[in-house]
Amino acid sequence: MKDCIFCKIVRNEIPSYTIYEDDVVKAFLDISQGTPGHTLVIPKKHIANIFEYDPELAAAVFSRIPKIARAVKDSNPDIKGMNILNNNGQVAYQSVFHSHFHLVPRYTNHDDFSMTFKDNSNKYTPDDLKKIQDSIVAHIGD
Ligand code: 5GP
Ligand code: ZN
Repeated sequence: MKDCIFCKIVRNEIPSYTIYEDDVVKAFLDISQGTPGHTLVIPKKHIANIFEYDPELAAAVFSRIPKIARAVKDSNPDIKGMNILNNNGQVAYQSVFHSHFHLVPRYTNHDDFSMTFKDNSNKYTPDDLKKIQDSIVAHIGD
């Protein structure tokens, strides 16, 4: 897509610190470096978000992620773990609308990354959960 910043990175019109690429994906350092080594893995094909993947592209992209994640982890003995995140939609903090997966190396529980969500389990009855389950199951296709 012409004006997409990540498509421009795929075409090398914008420079990036690329750590891996092949015919399907490109992986490069996130400019923000949330923690050292913070990497983005993107499909070379422009799609906006997770809702636009077909099974073949999803399989092709995800099959590359463990190898890239291992390389990032092995690059620094201080990396003890990794969060892998994928934001979809502005409401979910997506700011670049070309699908991407964040690989965020974790050094300690007190490094510069945090992710929290509330435990609301005490607000749901089994019936509430069953209704949510049913409404989602009704939309699972083949
Ligand atoms: P999002 O908020 O959409 O999940 O993540 C977008 C990410 O893209 C942000 O973490 C941001 O730092 C990164 N980013 C935005 N523009 C550029 C750029 O031009 N180059 C690189 N390497 N990363 C970028
Ligand atoms: Zn794009």
